[in-house]
Amino acid sequence: MKKKISLKYKIGVSLLVFVVFILLMLFVFQFLLLEPMFEQYKISTVKSVADTVAQNIESDDLNDIIFENQTAYDTCIRVFTNTDSMYQPPNDQIGPGPNSGCILYRMNYSKVDQYITQAMMSDDHTYLVTENEHMIMPTANEDYRNIIYTKVIETDDEGMAVVMVNSGITPMNATTRTLKTQLLFIAGILILAVLVLTYYLYRQIAKPLSVINDSAKSLPEGKYEADETTNRYREAEELNETLVQAARDIQKADHAKRDLIANVSHDLRTPLTMISGYGEMMQDLPDEKTDENLQVIVDEAHRLTNLVNDLLDLSRMQENKIVLKPEVLDLSDLLKTQLKKYEVYTINEGYVIEQNLTDSVLIRADRKRLEQVFNNFMTNAINYSGDKKHIIVSETVSGGKVRVEIRDFGEGIAPEDLKNIWDRYYKVDKQHVRVSNGSGIGLSIVREILELHHAEYGVSSELGEGSTFWFEFPVVKAG
Ligand code: ADP
Repeated sequence: MKKKISLKYKIGVSLLVFVVFILLMLFVFQFLLLEPMFEQYKISTVKSVADTVAQNIESDDLNDIIFENQTAYDTCIRVFTNTDSMYQPPNDQIGPGPNSGCILYRMNYSKVDQYITQAMMSDDHTYLVTENEHMIMPTANEDYRNIIYTKVIETDDEGMAVVMVNSGITPMNATTRTLKTQLLFIAGILILAVLVLTYYLYRQIAKPLSVINDSAKSLPEGKYEADETTNRYREAEELNETLVQAARDIQKADHAKRDLIANVSHDLRTPLTMISGYGEMMQDLPDEKTDENLQVIVDEAHRLTNLVNDLLDLSRMQENKIVLKPEVLDLSDLLKTQLKKYEVYTINEGYVIEQNLTDSVLIRADRKRLEQVFNNFMTNAINYSGDKKHIIVSETVSGGKVRVEIRDFGEGIAPEDLKNIWDRYYKVDKQHVRVSNGSGIGLSIVREILELHHAEYGVSSELGEGSTFWFEFPVVKAG
């Protein structure tokens, strides 16, 4: 497997990429977009100031309004009217004087005229221009950029007025220099923060995982030391619990496997001993070559075959290799035919097998597999019915379903064992009253088959009272 990059580096690299992205954004906005954005802002400011002044051109408070807008928006405003058929600055007294930093008051009239003409020629009677002016002052020796906005309007008395607004947009250099230093600081702080955050997140997220991972290395042997000390988050806690459960399951499966080997060897040995014992006896003593003794050998050989078949079935089921061959069949018929096999127990061994079956119920199922299910329940009922030797097989139809119950009055199953009996290799007690193919796999095969059929099944049992195993199938047609 290709070695994957560790979580610590993943967190660090992701955070670093994030920080680089933020720094890049800061750089773009502060250095590349700052001037154009600032210029846009200034342009909209001069336009709105010009609009405000234009709207109040006839107002008695014009001077106040101009003064307010100049100071509030850091602009320079000049208004001309042509009532005296000449451009006369009526507000010289309030604007910055001709020697101030305001370019509007240092422009000659031909320039003013030129701007007004441009404005007149445009559709909306406005004209916007940016102009560089080199300033040599005690504090600065650089180019100052100015936005000059000219708006020509008509007055109520059919005269004309011109509003000119100007605002400086340089120098930005000092600001940019400050921002640059700031950006360096920010970058340094952010990178430091990334290191700290990476370490913190690593401790919070990855550390518990690596602790769990270390302990999980001994999981294949069914060992897992749950780590209780680390301060963890929910997912790690859940993983820990899952692994604890997995270790338990592995241990259980391991024990079950050992049990199975012990059981299977025991169960294989019993018939084999019988077969070889009887065989040798018949070999040594010609008188013992009786039909009965031969029958014992045949029976024991059948038992062996059954056991081996069960084991094969189980391994095929574990690999999901069993494919059902469902057909519509008469369940009542099937039960009756199968029950015939058990007459030998009633005749020879004093069993009472009661039958409460309906005449005919059609269901859809795999015939051979269903027979296997029923026979497993029956064999168990016989094996575990103890001295009572009483078994009731009933079949009832209700609510579109047919339910088959196999009831015995034997030793029963303890409540703590009930949930386990369907597990592979599980045996409640190892001392069977009768040993047939008691390897503890019969019910797990039954469960697999019934689940493949999507049939309902279950058991109710009480110690000393007996057990009732049941399964249900949807009825295709009731007779
Ligand atoms: P086995 O071959 O050992 O009978 P099964 O899988 O058929 O294995 O059954 C599992 C266990 O469930 C049995 O070992 C037995 O302890 C218990 N069991 C099954 N059927 C009955 C029953 N009718 N009465 C009491 N115990 C039963």
